[in-house]
Amino acid sequence: MIRYQLQCDKDHSFEAWFTNSAAYEKQVKRKLVTCPECGSTKVAKAIMAPNVGVKGNRKSDLPVPTKQPTSPVPVDPKVAAAQQEILSAMRKLRKVVEDNAEYVGPRFAEEARKIHYNESEEKGIYGEASPSDVKELLDEGVEIHALPVLPDDQN
Ligand SMILES: [Zn+2]
Repeated sequence: MIRYQLQCDKDHSFEAWFTNSAAYEKQVKRKLVTCPECGSTKVAKAIMAPNVGVKGNRKSDLPVPTKQPTSPVPVDPKVAAAQQEILSAMRKLRKVVEDNAEYVGPRFAEEARKIHYNESEEKGIYGEASPSDVKELLDEGVEIHALPVLPDDQN
């Protein structure tokens, strides 16, 4: 048996039981299902919507929660698309650097200085530097750029 919430063309809602959905279709077609309030045979399955009363919205009767439940902030699709674009541009940039520069790892500060003071041939390098290294290099006038750290690099 299936219970359906039905509604007539005058917006009366009522419940009715059917053996299955086919039985429901058949009985409604044959006008065997009538509204208990007005006798209308123009009935259809009511659209079920949570928290919305058939006659008006009764939400205002509910106590207002003091703290809103944390739900993900809806992101504007345009913003999301722009973020994806930036992310893919940064990935490309990283790829270019990784393909064309030599990875020097933690020796980055040392290698960058060598290049800067012409102790080493000019070449692209990348690696890790501590914030204090970065500050020192910049103070010395060594040209360095921070590579963006992307979300999927932090696995
Ligand atoms: Zn009715």
